[in-house]
Amino acid sequence: MSIAKLDHRWSDEQRALQETATRFVEREAAPHLQEWEDAGEIPRSLHLAAAKAGLLGVGFDDSVGGQGGSLLDTVALQEAFFAAGGSSGLAAGLFTGGIALPHIAAHGSPALVDRFVRPTLAGEKIGAFAVTEPSGGSDVASIRTTAVLDGDAFVVNGEKTFITSGVRADFVTTAVRTGGPGHSGISLLVIEKGTPGFVVDRQLHKMGWHCSDTASLSFTDVRVPAGNLVGSQDSGFVQIAEQFVVERIALAVHAYGIAARSLQLTAAHCRDRSTFGKPLMANQVVRHKLVEMHRQVDVARLYARAVAARHDAGESTIAEACLAKQTAVEACAYVVDQAVQLHGGSGYLHGTEVERHYRDSRILPIGGGATEVLTDLSAKLLGYA
Ligand SMILES: Cc1cc2nc3c(=O)[nH]c(=O)nc-3n(C[C@H](O)[C@H](O)[C@H](O)COP(=O)(O)OP(=O)(O)OC[C@H]3O[C@@H](n4cnc5c(N)ncnc54)[C@H](O)[C@@H]3O)c2cc1C
Repeated sequence: MSIAKLDHRWSDEQRALQETATRFVEREAAPHLQEWEDAGEIPRSLHLAAAKAGLLGVGFDDSVGGQGGSLLDTVALQEAFFAAGGSSGLAAGLFTGGIALPHIAAHGSPALVDRFVRPTLAGEKIGAFAVTEPSGGSDVASIRTTAVLDGDAFVVNGEKTFITSGVRADFVTTAVRTGGPGHSGISLLVIEKGTPGFVVDRQLHKMGWHCSDTASLSFTDVRVPAGNLVGSQDSGFVQIAEQFVVERIALAVHAYGIAARSLQLTAAHCRDRSTFGKPLMANQVVRHKLVEMHRQVDVARLYARAVAARHDAGESTIAEACLAKQTAVEACAYVVDQAVQLHGGSGYLHGTEVERHYRDSRILPIGGGATEVLTDLSAKLLGYA
C-alpha cells in the first residue's frame, strides 16, 4: 500500500462527525471530567446526551437503531473525541455499548435487539460485556462460568471480574460455558440487573480510568430466560472473535489519541515554560523529544487508519489489528512518559491532564488482549510458527 493511500483524507461526513464529537467533549464532558474521576463513574445523563448528539450509534446498522457507518467512521469520531480532551477512561465508560452490543446486533433475535440494542444506542440503557474471570482473562477458551438449560431458562453459576461499566450496567452480555471444554463450548447470554442471584460484588479501584466504573460480578443459580441466548448455543467464541478487529482498532485509537493530545499539551507547555532564561522549546534536546513523540503518534495513527480501511474493504486484518494496537500502545507509553517528564513536577500532580493520560494508558497493553498474547496470535496468523 502506497504512502498516499495511507494518508487518506476524511470525507465531509467524517469531518462533520468529528465536529460533533469535538463540540460534545468540549461542552458536555471535559468541564466535568475531574468531578467524574473523583466520583468513580460518569452520569447516565451523559449517555442520553451522547445519543442525542448522534455519537452512540455510529458503526451500528440503522436496522438495529444505529446510524450506520464504517470502522473508519468510528476511528474519525474517536480521534476527534480524544483531541478535544476526552480521556481513555471516559471513552471506555461512555462507549461500553461498543463491546456489549455488536454480538446482539449481529446474531441476536429481533426481541433482544429491541430490548437491549436500541435502548442502549438511544442512551437509555447501559450494557457491559463480561468475559474475564478471576481465574484469568487472556485464555478466553478456559472460562468456567456455567449455564445449564433447565426448562425454559439457563441456570448460571460463576464469577466475572474487571467488567467495564459493570456497576452501572442494566444488562451484561456474558460469556458462559454451555458445552464441553475449550472454545467450542462457549455461548453468550444477556443477563439483566435485578435477576435473582446476580450480584455486583464490588467496585474495583484502579490505577487509571477512574471515571470508568469497573466491577466484579457473581452469579448464583441465576435463572436467565433461554430467549436471552445470543445466536446459537456454543457459538460464543466465534462471535467474540468476530469483534476482535473492531475492539483492537478502537483501543489503538485510545492509545494514539491520548498520545496526540499529550503531545499537543506538552508542546504548548514547552513554549510557555522557561528555565535558565529561555523557553524549554529553545533547547534542541526538547525539540527532538517533541519530534520523536510526533513521529511515533503519526506512525501509529496512519497504520491504524490503514488497517481500519482494509477491514472496511472486506480484507481479513486480524493480525494487522493486533499489530496496530501494539504499535499504538508502545507509542503511547513513550509519549505519555515524555509528556510527564517535560511538564516537570506539575506533570506528577493529580489533576494535571498529562498525569491522567499517563495513568490511563497503562491498561492499554493489557486489556483487549495482552501484547504478548496478541503477538503470539499474530505469529500464528503470519505463518511464523
Ligand atoms: C480497567 C479494566 C477494564 C476491563 N474491562 C473488561 C471488560 O469490560 N470485560 C472483560 O471481559 N474483561 C475486561 N477486562 C479484563 C482484561 O481483558 C484482562 O485483564 C486481560 O484480558 C488480561 O487478563 P488477566 O488480567 O486475567 O491476565 P492474565 O491472563 O492472568 O495474564 C497476565 C499477564 O501475563 C502475560 N501473559 C498472559 N498470557 C501469556 C502468554 N500466553 N504468553 C506470554 N505472556 C502471557 C501478559 O503480560 C498478561 O498481561 C478489563 C481489565 C481492566 C484492568
